[in-house]
Amino acid sequence: MSAVLPTYARYDLEFDRGEGVRLYTRDGEEFLDFAGGIAVNALGHAHPTIIAALTEQANKLWHTSNLYRIPDQERLAERLVGVTFADRVFFTNSGAEAVECAIKTARRFHHVEDTPERYRFICFDGAFHGRTLATIAAGGQPKLLDGFGPPVDGFDHVEAWDVEAVRAAVSDQTAGILVEPIQGEGGIRTAGIDVLRELRAIADEAGILLVLDEIQCGMGRTGKLFAHEWAGIRPDIMAVAKGIGGGFPLGACLATEHASKGMTAGTHGSTYGGNPLAMAVGNAVLDAVTDPDFLEAVRKKGLRFKQGLAQLQDEYPDVIDEVRGQGLMLGVKCKVPPAELISALVEQKMLAVPAADNVVRLLPALVVSGDEISDAVTRIGMACAALAKANASSH
Ligand SMILES: *Cc1c(COP(=O)(O)O)cnc(C)c1O
Repeated sequence: MSAVLPTYARYDLEFDRGEGVRLYTRDGEEFLDFAGGIAVNALGHAHPTIIAALTEQANKLWHTSNLYRIPDQERLAERLVGVTFADRVFFTNSGAEAVECAIKTARRFHHVEDTPERYRFICFDGAFHGRTLATIAAGGQPKLLDGFGPPVDGFDHVEAWDVEAVRAAVSDQTAGILVEPIQGEGGIRTAGIDVLRELRAIADEAGILLVLDEIQCGMGRTGKLFAHEWAGIRPDIMAVAKGIGGGFPLGACLATEHASKGMTAGTHGSTYGGNPLAMAVGNAVLDAVTDPDFLEAVRKKGLRFKQGLAQLQDEYPDVIDEVRGQGLMLGVKCKVPPAELISALVEQKMLAVPAADNVVRLLPALVVSGDEISDAVTRIGMACAALAKANASSH
């Protein structure tokens, strides 16, 4: 038995090294990695640019704390501001911390606006915002809240994507709306352009804040730098993580000047957040994803992948119910238990991620090639064929 606290139901697989979208076991067995570290390894494994950035920084300076200025932190913040709606950035080490910062920023906004009674958030069923006490309350899933005492107060849930229910749920205690433009853990459920625009309108009418969780769907995953750009809207606050560090633990909370006006000196902090190592990697990842050709390539590859999956759905209607998502954030809703498809994929030496709603997520590195996508479609096809055959013989 492992000395590690057994909170994870892990696959019995271990990897020794990686390269691009490939992972290798110690004895050289090769896997096609379409789990992507759960949408984290944006540039794949062992990308030379981020290795260089990290090792160069590692030889200079690792950590000084936020008692002092960190030039690369100021630079990354400025660059993120330059390519988004935001005016201010707070760096964290994880997604949950980025959401915590978003929640605190919105509550402080109303505090300094002299409407401190506005502390509640409207959230959606199926949401996932992290594993801290506040973010499990924001997610609202009984499975994640069970046994951890009274849920942190201040989160009201409505059905996804019922904008009339949101409108009805707004009260004089509402601080904001907290939403993932595409639910990841929830099963690649897309809010859609109209819903995001409606939420923006509701927030404006009510004088509350629109807070996006783009931890999974952001940083180029959908073929835009951030998923809300498809809707042409601007949030007030946004939580980012996963892809932003390409595998180095990094998150960020972005906000407008207006929405962040309560976050004055002493209101928030993190010992590690935005340290020189993380900032070196963050700047290098941002170089790659803001290359104009990069996002165009993600869109093209995503389309090609989705078309390949749609063909498999036609071919294996008893295995695949639906193909969902955008860019390289795709999901296959299964007619079989999704764990069975994942196991069948492991047989084909390919990795994918389970999600709620019977979905298997496909979240390859954004640098995946067209050939690697074709390879993935072939392997998924073989896994479907194996499942279809097993199902036919069991009936
Ligand atoms: C992964 C994820 C989180 C939590 O991020 P951690 O780094 O695990 O804390 C929050 N929100 C969304 C949408 C996520 O996908």
